[in-house]
Amino acid sequence: MEANVLKAKGLERLVCPVCHQQLGLADGGIRCMGCGRVYPSVDGIPVLIASRATGI
Ligand SMILES: [Zn+2]
Repeated sequence: MEANVLKAKGLERLVCPVCHQQLGLADGGIRCMGCGRVYPSVDGIPVLIASRATGI
């Protein structure tokens, strides 16, 4: 269900603010396909801020 919400918000059109690669769903957030950073998702809204990312 969460995946559908994120798709409706246009996740596939968002890119990583660091490397500008496409993003995908990950456990508890949004994972960058390029650099592997995981961005948090707060109330279903991706927080695409480099300093908030984890997984590097
Ligand atoms: Zn990236």
